[in-house]
Amino acid sequence: MPKGADAPRDQLPQVAVAGRSNVGKSSLINWILRQPLARVAKEPGRTRGLGFFLVNRRFYVVDLPGYGFARVSQQLRAEWGREIHRFLVDSDRLAGVVCLLDIRIGPTPLDQELQRMLVDAGRERLVVLTKADKVGRSARAAMQRTVQNDLGLPKPPLAVSVKSGEGRKELLAELSRLLAMQTEKQRSDGDGTEEADQ
Ligand code: GDP
Repeated sequence: MPKGADAPRDQLPQVAVAGRSNVGKSSLINWILRQPLARVAKEPGRTRGLGFFLVNRRFYVVDLPGYGFARVSQQLRAEWGREIHRFLVDSDRLAGVVCLLDIRIGPTPLDQELQRMLVDAGRERLVVLTKADKVGRSARAAMQRTVQNDLGLPKPPLAVSVKSGEGRKELLAELSRLLAMQTEKQRSDGDGTEEADQ
């Protein structure tokens, strides 16, 4: 089998990262992983626009295409296309989706649509506010409250900054928790033990 071609079909858990374009997604992915990422697999046609990045041979970070490019506002589903929606709904390796929001902007209609999509699909959501260094303490607390209420989250979203370094440890802990839950689920479903144990 050609190297890389089988990557998304193996048993390793996946964590997807989503957000509007310019929200700070690429910066955040590089920051949390602290390593230059190599795209390991792409399946043109089937999962167009998805980037799979293998981390420590333990799990994949799945980079979803940034949205909100379109000049004329449209629906997220239309902008992303059917494949990505299907991936979010159907992937049985997907531990959850890290949903990025710019701390100065908060949830836009497309972000709201993504949230509804994830809730409908029964996906774990990890909502994270980016660029926390750009606002003061009270603006941050206000946005955390707003986002928690608007998106119906059990607790206030994490605020992180690639620039100041804050929130990285907390974010990594949340990712570990999601991955552990997924590994456990796959184990109890009776697969995924080999790779997940490495
Ligand atoms: P993407 O389009 O979502 O992948 O966003 P990028 O990672 O390319 O970031 C968009 C812009 O935001 C760039 O100019 C980054 O330098 C900036 N940026 C990203 N994260 C932070 C942050 O935590 N603090 C600040 N001040 N700027 C950030």
